[in-house]
Amino acid sequence: MSKHCEKVQNRRELLTAVLRYATLGTLGAIGVGVFAKRRRLVQDGICINSGICKGCGIFEQCGLPLALSAKQVQKTENREQKTENRGQTLISDI
Ligand code: SF4
Repeated sequence: MSKHCEKVQNRRELLTAVLRYATLGTLGAIGVGVFAKRRRLVQDGICINSGICKGCGIFEQCGLPLALSAKQVQKTENREQKTENRGQTLISDI
């Protein structure tokens, strides 16, 4: 292979690598930006999921009134479920 062809190939590889890493860097920056924005919105008391707590990605960490209410309901349901299970166990023991 001639020196000219090698230079062209090296330039292409360099350009490809630059584009690849620039794309990766841009995608990473967008991801960090979205994450930071979601955090800031929740800290400012703004819901990020239209008030649909079930399946929300930050439900466990969320301290908004809607989430606290949903957690309370969840606790009550879990307690009732445990009571129901205990009752069924007692009945099956008889
Ligand atoms: S957990 Fe509920 S209140 Fe909190 S951001 Fe998600 S949907 Fe909104």
